[in-house]
Amino acid sequence: MTAVSGRGQLRRMPLTSSRWGRWVPFVLLTVALVVFPLVASTAVVNVGVYALIYGLAAIGLSLLMGLAGQVSLGHAAFFAVGAYTQALLVTKAGWSMWPAAVVATVAAMVVALLVGLPLLRLRGHFLALATLGLGIIVTVVVRELEITGGTSGLYGIPKPEFGGRLYNSAQEYFWLLSPFVVVGMLLATNLVRSRMGRALGAVNDSEVAAECLGVDTFALRLRVFVLAAGYAGLAGVFYAHWLGVVSPEAAGFELSVEMLLMVVLGGLGSVWGALTGAIAVSAMDEGARDLITALIPGASGEVQLLAFGVVLVLVIILVPGGLAQLWHQLTAARTAHSTDGAAAAGTAPSTESTPSPSVPNAAPSGSRLAGLLEGADLPERGSPLLLVRDLTKRYGGVTALDHVDLDVAAGEIVALIGPNGAGKTTAFNMISGVLPPTSGTVTLRGREVQGQRPHVAASLGATRTFQNLQVFSSATVLGNVKVARHLRSRAGILRGMGGLARSEERSIDAAAREALEALGLTDHADRPVADLPFGMQRQVEIARALALGPALVMLDEPMAGLSGSERTSLSELLREASRAGVAVLIVEHDVEAVLALADRVAVLDDGRLIALGGPEEIRNDPAVIAAYLGVAAEDESLVRQAAARVEGEVGA
Ligand code: ATP
Repeated sequence: MTAVSGRGQLRRMPLTSSRWGRWVPFVLLTVALVVFPLVASTAVVNVGVYALIYGLAAIGLSLLMGLAGQVSLGHAAFFAVGAYTQALLVTKAGWSMWPAAVVATVAAMVVALLVGLPLLRLRGHFLALATLGLGIIVTVVVRELEITGGTSGLYGIPKPEFGGRLYNSAQEYFWLLSPFVVVGMLLATNLVRSRMGRALGAVNDSEVAAECLGVDTFALRLRVFVLAAGYAGLAGVFYAHWLGVVSPEAAGFELSVEMLLMVVLGGLGSVWGALTGAIAVSAMDEGARDLITALIPGASGEVQLLAFGVVLVLVIILVPGGLAQLWHQLTAARTAHSTDGAAAAGTAPSTESTPSPSVPNAAPSGSRLAGLLEGADLPERGSPLLLVRDLTKRYGGVTALDHVDLDVAAGEIVALIGPNGAGKTTAFNMISGVLPPTSGTVTLRGREVQGQRPHVAASLGATRTFQNLQVFSSATVLGNVKVARHLRSRAGILRGMGGLARSEERSIDAAAREALEALGLTDHADRPVADLPFGMQRQVEIARALALGPALVMLDEPMAGLSGSERTSLSELLREASRAGVAVLIVEHDVEAVLALADRVAVLDDGRLIALGGPEEIRNDPAVIAAYLGVAAEDESLVRQAAARVEGEVGA
């Protein structure tokens, strides 16, 4: 279930409904779909048929736009591929409906795969424009080709015959379609709740953080793009048989806008919203047609498109979360009301809100990370893990990192310190794959990873936190940490849609809760992460990184925003991690804290490594004192000499 935060941003709600409670809406929907044709007039059922057809397409588009954050302005292209393929197979090749429907749906998915490979490398407006272009291309192609019937399209697509029955009335067709819609929705809601759905939501919130937890964002987006096309292709199949004719309008911009409107009106990312939006737009479509012709005799379809455009703009401005947002507000208000009532009657449980400041962890008895690291493929303590050689990053004339060499062994705690602008975050970014280096190499567990995307480093056990927080703001605290188990679980889109990964979900949940426990965040597990104060969000990021079961965890200023006791607790936790074999690379401005924590300290100044050694050595190094620890240098050349010396030592 999704809802929308106060800022109009999608928020995946905690999935608190019981196993059986989940079925109630589907049972009610099924009953409604069975009863509706019995009580409504044929004209209204006819509108209902279109609502179900477009609803199918909208479910896929909602997953694509709401969950994967991909704006598609040409979704009707896949609808048209499904409809035309079906029409061709049935009318020209003499196929029967169901085998043709399978091929038509797959055809839409194959087209999505082929166009998605180049298109999904684009982002934001560029992707939206590219999908718009796709819609135009498909319209032009079907209009120009003889085999697709040119401008007049393909005629004579028969009404389906199935189980000895001809589905030629609106009522019967509605019933034929209904199971597909219910199953389509069930599969989509399962997907939203699955490992893949969680990863998609994470990608939508922060692509870089999702990548650093091992999510291959491109592959994931491509899959959901193909899946959304499958929904649209199947909708096209039903459209072709219901209308009996398929013309270029099936790929038209107008239909793409209508689908967009359904999804936005229903609430981006809400599967139930997609169906509700489809019903609302189909009803509006009918109403608008009558109203516009009454108001403006002889008005064309463009006027209707204009009306849709106006509604779209109004929804975006007034209710950015669409009908799902309204529903959520309504149910939240009702829950609050009933809680108030119960409290007044003295029967309510304590409504005291959870205090926001975190409680420092209790002193550990045994490792708090034992369960998380169980089964993690950690290299032997002390063995080489990370080798950085000659790492350099230039931005035009600025050299952010200058030929830096650094090694980190398994289980070692290495601190990277230096004044502001020294290049610490740049180094982190290149080691984790967030930035490609200008030159130099990064070797993780014997494999060179420089210039590759962060999920590659994550797959080798290296993950990180961020100086500028990158929490998954639409998820709960627990939801954030669960994403980190992506690489330690396997369920793909199909298993997710089938709801076939329950035991895996249970172990993901247990591991995520263990990571929260380690950071003292258990009481906040079900809170939306966006509601937490800064320091706690930082701890959520740390819990998330540790939940991966990493071989190397890179923490960028983890102590910022933490209280004294929280800093002490975190230091103890990192020592535990180190004892368990996890290497820690830490960037921190609290020099005393890191000198007390680290096995070795690397000092950067102006992009160069000027010192590398044990904490005591660093504390007394004149070049470090000159560059960083606040005492004015009598001789600036000390710093340069130190850099040359360290380069020689590490290189040797
Ligand atoms: P801080 O402690 O303030 O976070 P830092 O040691 O992490 O600093 P970096 O953020 O790595 O330093 O920056 C190193 C240098 O590179 C700085 O001079 C910075 O201005 C420069 N720099 C970083 N990113 C860019 C960029 N995208 N374009 C141009 N210069 C950049």
